[in-house]
Amino acid sequence: ASCPSPLFSFSLLRCSSSSSSTSTASHVVGYPRIGPKRELKFALESFWDGKSTAEELEKVAADLRASIWKQMSDAGIKYIPSNTFSFYDQVLDTTAMLGAVPPRYGWTGGEIGFGTYFSMARGNASAPAMEMTKWFDTNYHFIVPELGPDVKFSYASHKAVDEYQEAKALGVETVPVLIGPVTYLLLSKPAKGVEKNFSLLSLLDKILPVYREVISELKSAGAASWIQFDEPALVLDLDSRELEAFTRAYADLEPSLSGLDVLIETYFADVPEPAYQVLTSLSGVSGYGFDLVRGRKSIELIESGFPSGKYLFAGVVDGRNVWANDLDSSLATLQSLESIVGKDKLVVSTSSSLLHTAVDLVNEPKLDEEIKSWLAFALQKIVEVNALAKALSGDKDEAFFSANSEARASRKSSPRVNNEAVQKAAAALKGSDHRRATNVSSRLDAQRKKLNLPVLPTTTIGSFPQTVELRRVRREYKADKISEEEYVSCIKEEIRKIVRLQEDLDIDVLVHGEPERNDMVEYFGEQLSGFAFTANGWVQSYGSRCVKPPIVYGDVSRPELMTVSWSAAAQGYTKRPVKGMLTGPVTILNWSFVRDDRPRLETCYQITLAIKDEVEDLERAGIPAIQIDEAALREGLPLRREDRAFYLDWAVRAFRVTNSAVQDTTQIHTHMCYSNFNDIIGSIVDMDADVITIENSRSDEKLLSVFREGGVKYGAGIGPGVYDVHSPRIPSKEEIADRVDKMLGVLGSNILWVNPDCGLKTRKYEEVKPALENMVAAAKLLRARL
Ligand code: GLN
Ligand code: ZN
Repeated sequence: ASCPSPLFSFSLLRCSSSSSSTSTASHVVGYPRIGPKRELKFALESFWDGKSTAEELEKVAADLRASIWKQMSDAGIKYIPSNTFSFYDQVLDTTAMLGAVPPRYGWTGGEIGFGTYFSMARGNASAPAMEMTKWFDTNYHFIVPELGPDVKFSYASHKAVDEYQEAKALGVETVPVLIGPVTYLLLSKPAKGVEKNFSLLSLLDKILPVYREVISELKSAGAASWIQFDEPALVLDLDSRELEAFTRAYADLEPSLSGLDVLIETYFADVPEPAYQVLTSLSGVSGYGFDLVRGRKSIELIESGFPSGKYLFAGVVDGRNVWANDLDSSLATLQSLESIVGKDKLVVSTSSSLLHTAVDLVNEPKLDEEIKSWLAFALQKIVEVNALAKALSGDKDEAFFSANSEARASRKSSPRVNNEAVQKAAAALKGSDHRRATNVSSRLDAQRKKLNLPVLPTTTIGSFPQTVELRRVRREYKADKISEEEYVSCIKEEIRKIVRLQEDLDIDVLVHGEPERNDMVEYFGEQLSGFAFTANGWVQSYGSRCVKPPIVYGDVSRPELMTVSWSAAAQGYTKRPVKGMLTGPVTILNWSFVRDDRPRLETCYQITLAIKDEVEDLERAGIPAIQIDEAALREGLPLRREDRAFYLDWAVRAFRVTNSAVQDTTQIHTHMCYSNFNDIIGSIVDMDADVITIENSRSDEKLLSVFREGGVKYGAGIGPGVYDVHSPRIPSKEEIADRVDKMLGVLGSNILWVNPDCGLKTRKYEEVKPALENMVAAAKLLRARL
């Protein structure tokens, strides 16, 4: 029997009690909080801009939470999470819960409100924001806790309890979710002034009392049965001391947890064997959650031994992607697990929080119907979880299952997915080594002659400011409001102006400025076959910021030239060399939702071939330098060390293939948006680009030490950014000269380039002009001294 939409307690109780003994339970690890149409983003930004009140923001948030709980409850989910909502970030919420506010925010105690909370997230007039970093291998960024021996922890945010009660008042019984104490500490960093090798885990005894308070309050609020601790750090490479902290933490919490069922949730990979032993021996724990999608070895581990009487939360529905589940195969997996852990101990779940997927397919009316039938966003995934749980209990929704298998069959055989020629060409790339014919130093010689560049050549990273006017032109062209002719002439006019400006500034290697691009991945995806785009497929990146990754659904190919006409136009306006501007295959891959029916590297090689063709067409059109941005190469680095070499090998190879066939005199640039590549420097050298420009705004030292202490011999051109483009501040000539001078102490004057940190598209011309002027002046000053 199916449950009627139970938002209120009566119907909810009726449903769960009538089915509790026979049916398999369902669970969701976490849910997107941004809203189906980014309601939270707009509410936050309006509040930050002082255009709305705290009450208005609270109201939007409460409505979003209520609708999420209602949707899960309507779908029949048994274990519905609470406290997975956040105004900014769940790690920052934990920092607030623990009262671990860095002293610079001037917090003096009491419940942490929006003022302190958003100051930590975004900084304020007197204190910079806390650092942000990637959440495991996702594109979500969390606020890194800053801890040290002097932090006085106290229970300072009652959010977990408040949300639990809020749901309860709506008639929805939830599982409160907390970031586990050990993962929290392992993700922290020593605060400024604290010794770098301070043991963060030594703070365990200080934070556990706060967890105890939270737990006891949840108990008195009537937390009926379960509490969930997210401990995803368990999937990382941990040493025995780190593993031991889990044992200690949960043994310590056990007395306060009595009477509750405790779920320890892991995700994003399998738990390595030693960690699995520790995890499944924790005291006071009733259930374990595993990622069965990315966790290749999870099933084997469970088969090799699962503690009797414990619950297995089986994450079979992918939280990291947008594809509809293969329900038949999941059902088979679940049935085999059932025979190990017992029917009443199996819970169907998602592989991770659904935070990392898009929200609701219903808001995609323009998406092609066939492609849509292959997809499932967060809300559709919840329905899948429930359908699987019901099927396990013998209540299989045959219509739902057969629609799912039909969609899968259509996806498998669809001509829009399969392109045999591309498959063959990509397969042929494997195995062989693709390198340019000559080594980098002789290439640089040939290029120097041809391009006639001074020492310390100046350049920029690609984009110039994107004006309101430009955005309007692109929008109107897309909406068919202006003709192609009109559009092309507007963009070319803009390119002409940008080229003229660079000539006036006396920059050596010019760019066309990217006025035709909205986004460095979307622009290429829209022109490649095999890509689909959503209207509302947003995924939170950090705070109010979201990204809308394209969906790679099929074999990728390039039907037509993508950038040549713009680059050729730019080159036509000047005698100076203009750089062609492309996004590299690994970055396109890493910033998209990638198909799950083929290996990632296969899709990457297909994109590689498309970019390779574009590189060669640019060369043919007389473009003397081509930049292939790999801003996201490092982002794809696997979580575990054992997997990294394999990834780096194919990623670097893909980059090399794109330009393996160009002439010595064609200068290949690449750009990377980070400077922490100490651990992948070997791979970067192996990319064999002629010139690499890298972000370097926050720390010259970190970057230069790679070359100084690391003893890395770098023979190719290198341009560590000489000023920060993320800030409106205009650097002086002296300041830039000073930084370049420091770089010259480590990197030879024959390889050093002078350029900003990244593209200029978010800046204003009033900032860009004087900054570049000072940059060029600094380069000239140093040239005169050399
Ligand atoms: N060429 C791009 C630009 O300048 C690079 C952007 C990036 O690295 N994120 O905008
Ligand atoms: Zn960049």
